[in-house]
Amino acid sequence: SLWRDGVSYAHAPDLTHYLESTFVPSVVPQPDEYHAKDQARQYLEKLADQVSPGAKLLPFGSMANGFALKNSDMDLCCFLAKDAPVREPSELVEILGRLIEQETNFYVKMLPRARIPIIKLTIPPSTDVPMGMACDIGFENRLALENTRLLLTYAMIDSRLRTLVLFLKVWTKRRKINNPYRGTLSSYGYVLLVIQFLAHVKQPPVLPNLQRLSSPDGSAAEETMFDGHDISFFDDLDALPSLFQTTNTETSGELLIDFFRYFSKEFNFTHQVVSIRSDKGVLPKLQKGWHVDFEFDPELTVRDQHKLCVEDPFQLDYNVARTVTRDGLYTIRGEFMRAFRILTTPTRSPEGIGAVINS
Ligand code: ATP
Ligand code: MG
Repeated sequence: SLWRDGVSYAHAPDLTHYLESTFVPSVVPQPDEYHAKDQARQYLEKLADQVSPGAKLLPFGSMANGFALKNSDMDLCCFLAKDAPVREPSELVEILGRLIEQETNFYVKMLPRARIPIIKLTIPPSTDVPMGMACDIGFENRLALENTRLLLTYAMIDSRLRTLVLFLKVWTKRRKINNPYRGTLSSYGYVLLVIQFLAHVKQPPVLPNLQRLSSPDGSAAEETMFDGHDISFFDDLDALPSLFQTTNTETSGELLIDFFRYFSKEFNFTHQVVSIRSDKGVLPKLQKGWHVDFEFDPELTVRDQHKLCVEDPFQLDYNVARTVTRDGLYTIRGEFMRAFRILTTPTRSPEGIGAVINS
């Protein structure tokens, strides 16, 4: 029906049609872009191999999790061979960074002293690479690889997740609320909000909780700890149908409207933490000790904020939304409300729903 709990879903059919037949195909990268990026990755891997024989450069983030937009950055992580001499990431940043500078036409910026040391690479637009290319290289970040694989597994279970995530990525960038350096939330944070909504808020759920499903034969319990973090999750998609099959038939348009409803009216930003691995999808801030507003680091430079709390699925002591400031959260919530209002105004023309995405 068009009305549910006093909210008009009259635009849902048009919205779904727009999302699936126009929007998604127009924002995802074409195969040649993936190809060009993989070529660059292979070439950089050869250089990494010169620095430390057997080193691998593996993609993570959006190029590997199914949520990439056209021209998105490429996130790479360098892993040294098991028998290679141990070296500090900061040292590797400088050695590999200099080699890339000598051997390629990438513009290189090295951040050896960042919390997570990385090399930032950019190529300006040219005829070969019409939109240019940006790439970050980090080191030995196994957790990033595992959370990428978790997101990819969720993306493969139900295509409505990808539709919602791609829309939110474009929309949050247009509305300028996708910038952790300016007090708002990273793409990774928004993806966790969508997974929480589809796995825990929606009844019946669209997604299972992959961190709470176990194989009938108990095989999921093997080798699951890394650096003190439980990184196990159910990843056997062939066996999934016997454990979980969604009976939720809502369209992506309905789900998007309801996502905005939940995060503008229902979620309690003051007291709740978004936690996809938990039983209910939310935890009290108090339980995590995140009710204290912020703490200063020893150098009094970085503020860990607890205005918006989004628990990392593996690094449970880590608030993915720690960059979100009071003003940032106010802006984000205002944008959720604006989107909800536009999408649920029944008198608006079908073309008018496009207004939600325009600045
Ligand atoms: P975009 O296309 O906007 O670059 P993305 O999917 O690559 O989006 P990012 O926010 O750039 O998302 O994050 C890339 C990857 O880095 C994530 O998949 C995750 O593995 C890791 N990551 C990013 N932010 C965090 C964070 N705050 N905590 C832990 N891991 C993170
Ligand atoms: Mg990225």
